[in-house]
Amino acid sequence: MRTRRPRALQLVRYTIQTTVAAYVLVIVIANTTGERWAANLHTICPFGGVVNLYTYFVEGGYVAKLHAAVFVMLLALLVGLILTGKSFCGWICPLGSIQQGLGWIGRRLWPRAYNKLPRWLDGALQYLKWAVLVWVLVQTARTGRLIFQDWDPYFTLYHIWTDEIALTGYVVTAATVVISFFVPRPFCRYACPLGAFNGIFNSFSFIRIKRDAQTCTDCGRCTKVCPVNIDLCASTTIRSIECTRCLQCIEACPQNTRGCNTLGLHTWFSGLVPSGRSQGTDAPSPASAKPGRSKRVPTSAWVFAAIAIAAFVLPILITNLTGDFKIAGGGRGSGNGGGRQELIEPGLEGIEEGLDGAAMNVDYQQIRGSTTLGAMQFMGADIGDFLAEFDLPQDIPLSTRLRDLAEQYGLPLSEVRAYVDHAAR
Ligand code: SF4
Ligand code: SF4
Repeated sequence: MRTRRPRALQLVRYTIQTTVAAYVLVIVIANTTGERWAANLHTICPFGGVVNLYTYFVEGGYVAKLHAAVFVMLLALLVGLILTGKSFCGWICPLGSIQQGLGWIGRRLWPRAYNKLPRWLDGALQYLKWAVLVWVLVQTARTGRLIFQDWDPYFTLYHIWTDEIALTGYVVTAATVVISFFVPRPFCRYACPLGAFNGIFNSFSFIRIKRDAQTCTDCGRCTKVCPVNIDLCASTTIRSIECTRCLQCIEACPQNTRGCNTLGLHTWFSGLVPSGRSQGTDAPSPASAKPGRSKRVPTSAWVFAAIAIAAFVLPILITNLTGDFKIAGGGRGSGNGGGRQELIEPGLEGIEEGLDGAAMNVDYQQIRGSTTLGAMQFMGADIGDFLAEFDLPQDIPLSTRLRDLAEQYGLPLSEVRAYVDHAAR
């Protein structure tokens, strides 16, 4: 049986990446326009589950703007990580896909300048993301706020049309976009806390990439095509935390096309199968043809792709069908910045619905134009007093946003912020 042409697999990968990125955009637009079926971006990002672990298990609640659905996302992520390693980054994550697309453009615009960062600098910068991961976990646990939002290019790109973006978000995003034209996936490799977390699983995932040193000719093509500069010839099992499981190296290996399966995907158990039963090859490899030599059975790249996608999609699909994936109401905010330590008791997430959806925009310290009167009431402000303080009609609906008050009644946001800060003390 002849293996499929490499190009087809990458086309499928690009299609999946594009579809996910577009789908997330639809959800975010729906959320920011007030559709109650649409979750906020934090709720559908698995990193929300990672940063919420401490708060949930130690303090018994959720970080501001998160709720139970983030644990479904985390479960989906973990299943994929355990089975396939860091495939989420290479096949699903929209921010990774965007950087990949920008890199594709940059590589064609200035091929001589693309990916020319000195190795020592590239390697040193890769440690940065661990510091970011620790900082985000500690600060989120300490404050109960999604502190990374104000730095996160993923959030910024998907909310660029809103007034929710902090200056730091613009700066990091601009840097990410510009550098992506010259360096492959710079944010993923140097600054992404989720990328650091995901990379841990590359060492022991159920399916891993292995190189057969017996049949490898050291031609270096795998290393050359690797978008994250992994030296595949330096090891026989690819454990690098940078590997996004894009599988371009496997496709590029000329020995694979000769039926040697030199660079392939292997499960924990592939070495247990006796020689002479390899899959997906045209002919037995020269090494495996030797009698008595054990031969690992490779896993098809297509099977790997199907597992990677199914592992992420199925938990979400199933919990949607069973009703356990509750994103209705859009989580806690269409994208506001962080807030105070704002914990919701597990099982009481629905308490906010009494405010007609308004409390979904709760923010304590960074009142925004999209914050509603209902959200302010949820924070403890007496809306009657508030309206009286500014000589506003008492019958203004709780769903009214502060930016509407500014437009209709000339009430500056700064004065509202000062009032809320004062009322909360
Ligand atoms: S080692 Fe292979 S699968 Fe991993 S990132 Fe590089 S090319 Fe992609
Ligand atoms: S492309 Fe294949 S043969 Fe060439 S160095 Fe990589 S693993 Fe070895």
